[in-house]
This record gives sequence, structure tokens and C-alpha cells, in this order.
Amino acid sequence: MNALTAQAGAVRTTCPYCGVGCGLLAVVDAGQGVTIAGDPAHPANFGRLCSKGAALAETLSLEPRLLHPMMRQADGALARVEWNSALDAVAGGLRAIAERDGPDAIAFYLSGQLLTEDYYVANKLMKGFIGSSNVDTNSRLCMASSVAGHRRAFGADTVPGVYADLDEADLIVLVGSNAAWCHPVLYQRMMAARHRRNTRIVVIDPRRTATAEDADLFLPLAPGMDAALFCGLLVHLNDMQTLDQNYIAAHTMGFAEALARAREIAPNIAATARATALPEMDVAWFFSLFRQADRVVTCYSQGVNQSAQGTDKVNAIINVHLATGRIGRAGMGPFSLTGQPNAMGGREVGGLANQLAAHMGFSPAEVDRVRRFWDAPRLAAREGLKAVDMFEAIERGAIKALWVMATNPAVSLPRAGAMRAALTKLELFVVSENVRSNDTTEAGVHVLLPAAAWGEKDGTVTNSERRISRQRAFLPPAGEARPDWWIVCEIARRLGFGRAFDYRTPADIFREHAALSAFENEGRRDFDIGELASLTDSDYAALEAMMWPCRAGEARAERRLFAAGGFFTDSRRACFVVPDLPLLHAASSETFPLRLNTGRVRDQWHTMTRTGMSQRLCAHSPEPFVEIHPNDAAAADLDDGGFARITTRYGSAILKVSITAGQQSGSIFAPIHWSDATAAHARVGDMVSGATDPLSGQPEAKATPARIERVDYAYRGFALTRRPITLPAGVWFARLAVAGGNGLLLATNDPPATCHDFAVRLMRDGTDFAEYVDQSRDLIRIAAFHSGRLEGVIFVGPAAAPPRWDVVRTLFASAALGESERRVLLSGRSGEGMAETGPLICACFEVGLAAIRDAIVTGAATDVAEIGRALRAGTNCGSCVPELRKILERVRQVV
Ligand code: SF4
Repeated sequence: MNALTAQAGAVRTTCPYCGVGCGLLAVVDAGQGVTIAGDPAHPANFGRLCSKGAALAETLSLEPRLLHPMMRQADGALARVEWNSALDAVAGGLRAIAERDGPDAIAFYLSGQLLTEDYYVANKLMKGFIGSSNVDTNSRLCMASSVAGHRRAFGADTVPGVYADLDEADLIVLVGSNAAWCHPVLYQRMMAARHRRNTRIVVIDPRRTATAEDADLFLPLAPGMDAALFCGLLVHLNDMQTLDQNYIAAHTMGFAEALARAREIAPNIAATARATALPEMDVAWFFSLFRQADRVVTCYSQGVNQSAQGTDKVNAIINVHLATGRIGRAGMGPFSLTGQPNAMGGREVGGLANQLAAHMGFSPAEVDRVRRFWDAPRLAAREGLKAVDMFEAIERGAIKALWVMATNPAVSLPRAGAMRAALTKLELFVVSENVRSNDTTEAGVHVLLPAAAWGEKDGTVTNSERRISRQRAFLPPAGEARPDWWIVCEIARRLGFGRAFDYRTPADIFREHAALSAFENEGRRDFDIGELASLTDSDYAALEAMMWPCRAGEARAERRLFAAGGFFTDSRRACFVVPDLPLLHAASSETFPLRLNTGRVRDQWHTMTRTGMSQRLCAHSPEPFVEIHPNDAAAADLDDGGFARITTRYGSAILKVSITAGQQSGSIFAPIHWSDATAAHARVGDMVSGATDPLSGQPEAKATPARIERVDYAYRGFALTRRPITLPAGVWFARLAVAGGNGLLLATNDPPATCHDFAVRLMRDGTDFAEYVDQSRDLIRIAAFHSGRLEGVIFVGPAAAPPRWDVVRTLFASAALGESERRVLLSGRSGEGMAETGPLICACFEVGLAAIRDAIVTGAATDVAEIGRALRAGTNCGSCVPELRKILERVRQVV
């Protein structure tokens, strides 16, 4: 048993999901049950959690875990092997390929879910000792444009501000950021500031998201036109003589050229309005809010980064903050909200192919410095292939060996279908994973290495505000799982580099990482945590969340950067960057008249391998969907709640239709989370263009030309089973966790009678069936019992009146049913005392739509606060508050 599990008290750790980096308290009870709560002492969240963090304890099941190393055998099947066999095979394969084809035939694909220590050794092995820079990360898909923008403007990948700026801002501008769903704890911090000090909120996004619901001003600009808007703002502030000329003169360069270019793009309010397709009045309002607010924070995330002009967009935002001197002081600055828990830690150690380590690049002096520090004569001297280029090199056969750690690229990459097919060409395909099966491991993996999961790992992560926090283990590793850093070091040892990877613990690695950050630094590089290079093991174990930089001899403190210049360019001045014309990468056409925008839903994370285990988190958006404007829906003859096929040049998917005026006409939106493991034909990554920003290499995930067409299914229904089951080919389904087992929402053109055959095939010997068949209405309902326990149900009926599963799901959760409950079960209707819950709205307190509607209709709740008092909905993380407000409006309209 891990020593920490024996402790009576809570283990302080951090959330494994988004870049907010919330602190958590994990308590393991004697029966090995786990309770998770927010850590009131952690400065990122002060005890608050969103629905995802609050449901973490529901995601610790060992059922889907990879528990032992596995290798593909001569018969093509994967079989369990000893660790030594797996490690020898990986090291032998890497050595043979490097000797035959050179080190650039090998690539590592890492993840923002890795801990900094894991990331550090993987980068060191690849760049320092194998001798290639082909090591990139899924963070390339998340914030590479912010990195490139920071480096162009500041000379380093530095986030100047801190979260406390959100408490002190007069104006918060959110650009391409659905923070209410994607950074909920920070968003609630913004809302608190709004209530406390009347902070104004402006939301800039082509899509009316939940974040826009609480905004003072929502600017639904034309897709891709963010840079034009900020160019217009720069020109306006200049023409109104509200720039900080002292700051510009003392600390920057290139202002005149940037202003001239901005003037060409958006010379005045009217031109800005035309370029962005916004009402002139709204543009003027935004400009005046910005001009008049002393303290402004501009937060941006994937809507800015995931763009073929992402770096220019980032720099257009930074230009305005530099020109007004609104940077590095309380309540002001540009602020990149990072998607992943450790995207920033990955950047610190050089997890990107175009960085070396400790925020160094590939200049001869930097290469020499790292070579000497690591004593690595074969250190790679040039940049490697960024994510999309790397997988295209696999597709071409130029890369022969790939090691994927802690990520699912067969789902998340652009052109994901083609990339998944490319993986089958590899001579050596290694995956370090928590789960036994996902779309990547099913793509012909040769060696599967069981990695320790969140809760079992020990190390550090860095959040969006440069705050390093400890992730601490509170559970023993499952099965034979091992930490990623240990796996990498074992491979390094087998490759003959044991001396350079002779670490006993993550603390050893962290000390070396800290020492490298300070090595020959002397204030030249932003990332310096030299003060931590001499931590003892117990100091490291007890390390409190702290912010970098923290140079040797300096006290640990929360620092803003650049208020008085001190940039990391050669001249120590910040650079204004002249943006290119903000043109969309790919225009729509007759064949593909729409633009596909992709993103996230409130309660899921990435490819759902963890959040998909929580029945609470699955309940809010249970099926993959596409949002479309009513006009576009009418043109395509789509029904709300029906199905549609989306097609792009790269792939297609069939998704549920959600018609909403929040979606701009001409654009459609689909979430990224579903894979072949969780749905039929719903891999949105398959459809995304492989176009990238020329500087950052970040893919354009917001504007792939697409078309949409109606799909009809004659029958709809659901199945609930204790064990996961596979449905016949041709049946559309979405798989989700439900209380007591697995749920499948399905649609099919097969007659309902086939469900009967299907159910019979599935059930074990001794299974009793109860069934209700109404051939005149095309209805079939089957329940299977084993030793009196409800084993599974399948209900199918006509698509026009699909069976509802609320009541059946509630009965399924309890398993042992009495006679009357059995009757209720097959009726599908609520029995005495059983309320239909409707779709889940508040995941934290599991409050469904029916209860909220009742409270409004009966007058028990007349506003959001009263809903909270009556039902608790919206009173924890607050992510559902915009939805509660909409429900209030809708119900009031009909009562
Ligand atoms: S906001 Fe939610 S997902 Fe993000 S770190 Fe905090 S609890 Fe985790």
C-alpha cells in the first residue's frame, strides 16, 4: 500500500483536468472509498471545484484500466507480458531503428496530462540522448499559438499576469473562450468580481456560448476576425490619444509599423465593424469600454489559439496591452487560459518540438548550454516535427517508431481518421496508457505499457498563472502500473544512458529541472526556479503551490511581469508584431457551404476516458451533437433532436441535431469528445482540416468547410446493461455511464424484432426475460433478470415517439425489483413515488430539468437564487447558472 493511503488526513493534490489547476483534498477511507473536495488553501481555487473536479471520485474504477504490460504476438493478438520483456522490446526496437534509419525516424508524442517530471525525462531522452527533436505533445493542439505569440512579443513564453488580476479588473474581455464551461472556477471568480466591484465583462466569440449569457456586451464576430477587431481597437485607442506613450517609448519596439498595418486592416470603427460583421454601435461600445477602463484583462483560449492565424490573433491582443501599458500591473494584462492541467509544465521542460528545455530554443549557445548541462554529446541541434507534421511523416513512412504517452491522438488530431490509419504503418508503435482500450491502442499498437493514473502519480504541474503545484499519490498503483518517469528511465537505461537517468524519485528529477532553469541564466531567461534546485525530499513532499520565476535566493512570491519592461528579447524591449491580413484559411464553397467549429461540452474532458466513467458527468450532454442556426437547419430540412450527417473533405460523422440561434448562420459546432469507444460514427476529429498556423503549427480546428444533410432512423431506443456490450454494425449509439452499469442511447433502421434476437444473444444461461411487444405500434421492451437481479433492458420504438429512459434508469440503478416495480419497468412510465427527472442540468447536485421546471411553475422559485435555495442547483460550481436562467425564461413564456 502506498504510504499516503495509510495517513488519516487528506492528501493535498491537484485536479487532472483543465489549466485552472485547482487544489484538491483527497481522503481515502478504510474501505478504500475516496472523497474529493476543493482545497480551501490552494490559491488557484480557494476550495471551489467545477462539476468535473467534484466528480473525480467517480472516475477511479479499475474496470477500464490497463493493469499489465502487453505485447502483440505472432498471431496478431495482444498478450500480457513481464515488464522486462516489454521494456527490452521497446529499447531493442528503438535502437534498431535509430541505427538503421537515424534518430529522426523515431518520435515521441507526449501530453499535457503528464507531470512535469515525466515530461522532463521524456524530452531529455529524446532530444539529449536519442538525438532527435521529434518530441511533441497534444498541447500543440491547445496553446501553441499563445506560446508563439508570447515568444514573438516578449522574447519568452511568459504569461505576465496572475489569477488575482481577475479580482481587480475593471473590464474582463474574453476572446474565443467559453470559460463558463471550460475554466469554470476562474469564470466564477470573474462573476464574483462582477458582483463585488461591477467588473464589466465583454465576450467575443462567433458562437453564443454559456459564457456570453452573463456578459455586459457580447460580440458575435465573424469567424476568424479577432485580429481585425484588435487592430481596430489599437487604431482607435491611438486616434483617441489614450495610448501609454511613455511605456511604448521606454519598453517596446516596432509600434509605428504595427499601427500602420493595423490601420490598413481596420482604419476606424466603421471598417472594423465591416471586417468583423458586427454592428458599428457594438464595436464602438467595446472600444469605449476598453478606453475608459483603467484595469483590463483580456483572456483568450482555444477560439484564438486553434486557428490558422492563431499567433497573429494572440499578438493583435498583446499589441493593445503593450500600447496601453496595461500589462504586469494589478488587474491588467493579456492572459492565455491554458486548456490542459500541465500544458505549461510541458512548455517549461521543452515538451514542444521547437523548444529545447527550460524555455531555451535551438540557438547554438542554447544547444551548447543544454549539451553541457546534460553531458549529452548527441543533443539534437535543430527543431523537430510539430504534431501535425510528425503524424504526416508517419503517414509518409518517414517516421518508423512512435511512443505515445497519456494521450489519444487517433481521436484528437485533425484528420484523425487518416492519422489513425497512418499508425498501422509503424514498425514500432508503443503506447503508455491508463486504459486498456481506446481508439489509439486499437490502431495496431505493438507494446502497451501500463502507466500510473491520477491519484497514483507523484510530481508537479504548472497552471495557467505559472503556479507550480504538487500532484500527490493517494492510491497505490493499479496492477503493475508504473509512473511514466520510471518507464522512460528504464528504457533509457536499456539504451545505455543509465547514468543520465539514474533518478530514484520524482524529487530527483525536479531538482535537476530546477537547476537547469538556473544554469547560466543570470536573468536572461524568464523560466528560472533555481531556488527549488536544493529542495530536500521532504521539502519537495511538502512543497506548497508557488509561482515562477523564483530565482536562487529569492523569496517565493506571486509575481506579475513586465510592468517596468524587462522583456526577454536581446534589446529587453517587447516587440509589437505586425499582423497579416486576417483571412480565413479555407473559404466555404458550393460543396461545403458551412464552417465546422469544434470545442468542448461542460462536463466532459478530452476523449472521455476518465469523465466518461462518471454517470453524473455523462448526464448533461449524453449524445454527440451538432449545433446549427435555425435558417441553416431549415435549408437542410433538419429537425431539432433528429440526426444529420456532417461531411468535410476529410471525413464525416452522424450527430444529433441541436437547433439554436446561438449558432451563427453559416457555421456549425460539434464537440470533440466522442470516439469509437463511446459512440458510433461520431469522431469529430476525423472531419477537421490539417491546416496549421505557419508559426505555431497549431491546427485550425474552428473553420473546416463542411456540409450537412438529414439522416433518418425509423426507430430509437436505449439499452441498459451491467457489463459493456457491443451493438450490431449499422446501429447508431452513444455509450455512457449510468448508475449500476452502462447505458446506450440508440437509433436504427432495423425492425424492433431484431432487438429481441440481440437481447437473447447477450444474456447469460439462466436469464429470465420479461417482455412487452406491441407490433401495431412497433414497440418492443425487454428486461432480463438473473437470479432475481435486473441484468439489462432494451427498449426500442418508433423514432417519432422514442421511449424515455428516466424511470427505467432509476429502476436499473436499484437492481433488485419487486413485482410492482417489474410492471412499472416495462410500462416505462413513472410509478408511485418515482419522479421523472428529465435531462440533468446541475451535475454537482444531480438536479434534473423536471424538478427545476416544477419549482418555477409552482412559484417556489422565481429566479436563479431561489432555484438554488430550493434545489441547490447552481450553488456549487455555478456552471449551470446560464442554463438555469434560460430555463426560467422558457418556462415563464409558457406559464
Ligand atoms: S476548473 Fe474544474 S476541471 Fe479545471 S482544474 Fe478546477 S476543478 Fe479541475
